[in-house]
Amino acid sequence: MQWETVIGLEIHTQLTTNSKIFSGASTRFGAEPNTQACLVDLGFPGVLPVLNEAVVRKAILFGTAVEAEIARRSVFARKNYFYPDLPKGYQISQYELPIVGPCHVDILLENGETKRIGVTRAHLEEDAGKSLHEDFHGYTGIDLNRAGTPLLEIVSEPDMRSAKEAVAYAKKIHQIVTYLGICDGNMQEGSFRMDANVSVCPRGEEKFGTRTELKNLNSFRFLEKAVNFEVERQIDVLESGGEVIQETRLYDPSKDETRSMRTKEEANDYRYFPDPDLLPLVIEESFIEETVKSMPELPEARRSRFEQEYGLSAYDADVLTATRQQADYYEIVVQEAGDAKLAANWMMVELFGALNRASLHLEESPIAAEALGGLVKRIADSTISGKIAKSVFEEMWESGKGADEIIEAKGLRQITDSGAIEAIVDEVLAENAAQVENYRNADPKKQPKMLGFFVGQVMKKSQGKANPKQVNELLRAKLSG
Ligand code: ADP
Ligand code: MG
Repeated sequence: MQWETVIGLEIHTQLTTNSKIFSGASTRFGAEPNTQACLVDLGFPGVLPVLNEAVVRKAILFGTAVEAEIARRSVFARKNYFYPDLPKGYQISQYELPIVGPCHVDILLENGETKRIGVTRAHLEEDAGKSLHEDFHGYTGIDLNRAGTPLLEIVSEPDMRSAKEAVAYAKKIHQIVTYLGICDGNMQEGSFRMDANVSVCPRGEEKFGTRTELKNLNSFRFLEKAVNFEVERQIDVLESGGEVIQETRLYDPSKDETRSMRTKEEANDYRYFPDPDLLPLVIEESFIEETVKSMPELPEARRSRFEQEYGLSAYDADVLTATRQQADYYEIVVQEAGDAKLAANWMMVELFGALNRASLHLEESPIAAEALGGLVKRIADSTISGKIAKSVFEEMWESGKGADEIIEAKGLRQITDSGAIEAIVDEVLAENAAQVENYRNADPKKQPKMLGFFVGQVMKKSQGKANPKQVNELLRAKLSG
């Protein structure tokens, strides 16, 4: 039997606001437990939620970026359930009338084709608190700092057919929300959490199989592994004559398996109804117009600008715009260095190579963008050769010093004084009379290759500091003369 995998994702993106969606409490990450939950977040009687305008603007930015319809009227509903980290006994969410309507995003498949993935909707809601199981023996601690943190939940159609496609889609959404600056995308801190709905059915079957929901996956790697495990598990269940139960499951990275958490609630278990404490959210045209004025440049636009403005190849432009951070870093390097192609090479080869070897993210780079730009500038203006620049780069990485400081302290300036280079060239020719003879008697086609020997000798004598272009020119002239 051939099985088909079907996946739909629900992605919770935490919006980058200073205060919560319905209260003035801070959303800052990492505070002492329960110091950032006010009476509204705690659901005390008599308090009323007030919608945070910034949250609405961020949802509008997302909807506009993916070319979805922005609902002019959306409604906040109460989703009722009992859980210790939800003090009100309900979560305020949007149900029948979400703020962002249907749309789609295109993902790039491994075979180079693009595939369109439907986005069903995106709705605003508040986050719940956090249950802490580790720190308390036999108890569960509740931290309500996160309660009321604004989320935009982005729900996909069940359009993905493999774990890889799910990862490509999730990365695409991550790229969009971080480019927009509406979410910091920090997965360790839970700012971007994914629930994967997974089912399998016989290939060619139109009716999908029963799905399970894998909750709270907080890395792309875990998403891929969890889906793959779950697909295998469901196939095993079905092939041994069993039935998949619709349920919520948790992925355990240490065991690389999913396990049952609870049977899945049906929508009617939640007894959704419009929240009587909140008016429908009515958005005027002028509010949308004003909001989208601050729309940052999106990945695709930035990539084609990089090709045009900086003359980069499609590949380089693609790599450098993969994340907004990378693109921002690159533009600073260019600004300092003046040479866009050299800047791209140094960033992609030397910097990314060094970061990789040290397992560091770009934001942890010991060399800031301005500093790398300062180094590239010295190659572009011939102060140092590319080869010397590599050793300067290493020292910058180790010491945090600037390129100019290192070049001066170590006397690494390239020798461009033609008199000085000529003196070294003459010395080398005098010391290697036999090779000079050989060169002069050789087939002219073979001479360019033989020239390398003399260049090497001159560079060695000058400790790598002679300007290679001048060395080549002088040698060619003297050897043919
Ligand atoms: P609920 O309201 O119970 O969360 P939805 O219909 O909103 O269910 O679907 C939630 C997610 O599950 C969506 O991302 C959707 O694409 C996905 N989904 C629905 N049916 C299936 C299925 N049979 N297999 C895989 N994913 C599915
Ligand atoms: Mg759902």
